Amino acid sequence: MSAEDLLFPFAVPIQSMPIYDYSCRACGHGFEKLIRGTTIPSCPACNSQDLERKFSLPAVRSEASHDLAMRAAKRRDGKQAAEAAYTQREYEKNHDSD
Ligand SMILES: [Zn+2]
Repeated sequence: MSAEDLLFPFAVPIQSMPIYDYSCRACGHGFEKLIRGTTIPSCPACNSQDLERKFSLPAVRSEASHDLAMRAAKRRDGKQAAEAAYTQREYEKNHDSD
């Protein structure tokens, strides 16, 4: 493990972490790998670099949209809470005037 690997979670912005799914042509081992810059991945089982890249996972994007959905839900809840408080005040006003 290199120093770069140790620093990895803090040194690389989360938006720039492409995860690729590879299968090794030499031994058939399948694995996922984060690719940074010009890194050439190698098979963790046999160390071959004869790899087939299968697809990239949109993991970062789905997390970002999940975060947006959570924030939208919080905004909606806040609006509902404000409306509930307004309704309660209106009810008390009408109730007092009886
Ligand atoms: Zn391999």
